[in-house]
Amino acid sequence: MSTSEAPSLSCVKCTSILDRATFEGLEVDLCPRCGGLWLDRGEITRAARLPEAELMRLRALLTDVGGPPPLPTDSSAPCPACDGILSEAVLGSVHVDYCGKCHGIFLDRGELEEALVAVRSRDKAASLQQVVAAAASAARA
Ligand SMILES: [Zn+2]
Ligand SMILES: [Zn+2]
Repeated sequence: MSTSEAPSLSCVKCTSILDRATFEGLEVDLCPRCGGLWLDRGEITRAARLPEAELMRLRALLTDVGGPPPLPTDSSAPCPACDGILSEAVLGSVHVDYCGKCHGIFLDRGELEEALVAVRSRDKAASLQQVVAAAASAARA
């Protein structure tokens, strides 16, 4: 089996081949059958910063699928992107499948919004910390 630059990934939940879609240069893999979404390392952070119009386009692709939402994964599903094993991770109020090896995550249909909220609030907390740190260092000078 030869390895290509960007192999097609299989869905974690239903084994369909994932479709690739690009949003302002952010390339994601999504499942045309169950509406799952695979994000490589760091892509959730980039997704959280997409303009609303692009996010709406992504949402539409995910929710236009007709089937029922995916079932919870068995513990230890194989990662679609590497030879790692997925484990459950908590992201805000949702449980996502996370690969500890390549740091990708798989979001079930409907989990994207909660995940974005979680990432954005963390962003906010981080920038708040930076402001506090900057203020503190300025005060010291
Ligand atoms: Zn699927
Ligand atoms: Zn992986």
